[in-house]
Amino acid sequence: MEVFLIKGMCNTYLTSEGILIDAGAKPSDVLLIAKEHGISIKYVLITHYHYDHIKYASEIAERTKAKVVAPEAEADIIEGSARPKFPSLSLRIMSLFATIKPVKVDIKVKDGDEVAGMKAVAAPGHTPGSTAYVSGDIMFSGDAIESDNGKPSLPPRKFTLDQIMAEKSMKKLLELRPKIIYPGHGRPITMQ
Ligand SMILES: [Zn+2]
Repeated sequence: MEVFLIKGMCNTYLTSEGILIDAGAKPSDVLLIAKEHGISIKYVLITHYHYDHIKYASEIAERTKAKVVAPEAEADIIEGSARPKFPSLSLRIMSLFATIKPVKVDIKVKDGDEVAGMKAVAAPGHTPGSTAYVSGDIMFSGDAIESDNGKPSLPPRKFTLDQIMAEKSMKKLLELRPKIIYPGHGRPITMQ
């Protein structure tokens, strides 16, 4: 499986199997990379409901007819029928100005579910339904693990709802012993 990084509000990844992980890169950029490599996008996997990860999901899904896959615990927020919780008042106020375009979730996943060869692994903490997607020894971690110059780390505390749970989830993900982690932000992490 080849993985292509498309930079945007968050790292957006396209695999050679036609799976897009998160939707923070502009649709035009995503479609260009897909075309360049002859890939048709069949699934858009969402790691969590944060704005920078879902911003372009509806437009990409519309233009590619891809199925949207997201954590069951966050589907109502991603679909726009519930409001997310925020770790601070300032983030809550900021969110009122961010117009999130809801997207219909076609497939809702919970821990252990598999879609198109990707296994969903629940990694709550950063958000309640944060989910990593794993294929063999490759892991797409969303913001459950970020990259601090190629080393696993957590996002800034102010963006995380439950820091203790986030720490536990990171530990759990690392115990799966991925060889490469593709994080939501920062550069890919190669594990020894
Ligand atoms: Zn996030």
